[in-house]
Amino acid sequence: AKQNGRGQFSFYFDELQTDSKRVLLLDNELRKAIENDSFELHYQPKVSVTTGAIVGVEALVRWHNEKLGFVSPGEFIPYAEETGLIIPISECIINRACQDYLKLKSLNIKNMPIALNISSIHFHQSNFIESIMQILEKNNCPAHYFEIELTERTVMNSEKETIRKLVLLKQLGFKLSIDDFGTGYSSLSYLVQFPLNYLKIDRSFIQHICSLDDKQAVVDAIIQMAHRLHMKVIAEGVEQREQVQLLRKMGCDMIQGYYYSKPLPLDEFTEFLEFWELE
Ligand code: C2E
Ligand code: CA
Ligand code: CA
Ligand code: CA
Repeated sequence: AKQNGRGQFSFYFDELQTDSKRVLLLDNELRKAIENDSFELHYQPKVSVTTGAIVGVEALVRWHNEKLGFVSPGEFIPYAEETGLIIPISECIINRACQDYLKLKSLNIKNMPIALNISSIHFHQSNFIESIMQILEKNNCPAHYFEIELTERTVMNSEKETIRKLVLLKQLGFKLSIDDFGTGYSSLSYLVQFPLNYLKIDRSFIQHICSLDDKQAVVDAIIQMAHRLHMKVIAEGVEQREQVQLLRKMGCDMIQGYYYSKPLPLDEFTEFLEFWELE
């Protein structure tokens, strides 16, 4: 038994060591990536349920590192949030989105608002609005071309400062979305105090809408209530035709998901657009 115990201990110890080595490497490489502006954005279309047109895109960060390979945002964003590196990373991302906007504009693609995921750590910085406006102005980009996706958790504290920021962002021209709706224990009646344009229903609700009646009822209720509160609804993570049909019946406004397209590099996205318009 003792031997077993020791064996287990050294197993965990080795694993811990490899873990901390990886964290150290991750930290180093993230700092270099910030300096070299190595973060890229992939774009996932949002499709209008009523017209079938692509009415916007969500920008999702992608990072490929020589030593670590492809590191998913699900891994490096939480680490960056813990260490504060998220602020310069977020600024790189906003800047890259501006450059991509200018590329789209030069290709005569003009009605393609870009949604940015903004970490609560960045949002709650006292100079968040100045920092985003500075990047937009430097690139000559209009705020009304951008949407800001914030999770429920980000706006959960109904501090005056949160409301003040959201109102100001809205006045500056940004559209505001609540991301991952349904996962943060907030209610629509709570969210109504904010000037929100879009509500994105989390994939975990969409996943089983065709098989589970209670999920269906919840999604249906969210859509009806959001509409009464003058918000448009986006369904996330839609993968099947049956889900599209059901969401259309429920009056959902926009659909995002692998059913239409995974997030694509900018050049592939513009090709996708051309193909889409020919359909
Ligand atoms: P999110 O904002 O909820 O983004 C949706 C995630 O679902 C993305 O994963 C997207 O690629 C994936 N997805 C889209 N459609 C489908 C589908 O039909 N099925 C499935 N299974 N997945 C789908 P991704 O790109 O790995 O991003 C994960 C999370 O990392 C994001 O969740 C967001 O919280 C964060 N993130 C991504 N990009 C950024 C960024 O630029 N800034 C910040 N602060 N966070 C980001
Ligand atoms: Ca999002
Ligand atoms: Ca989401
Ligand atoms: Ca999510």
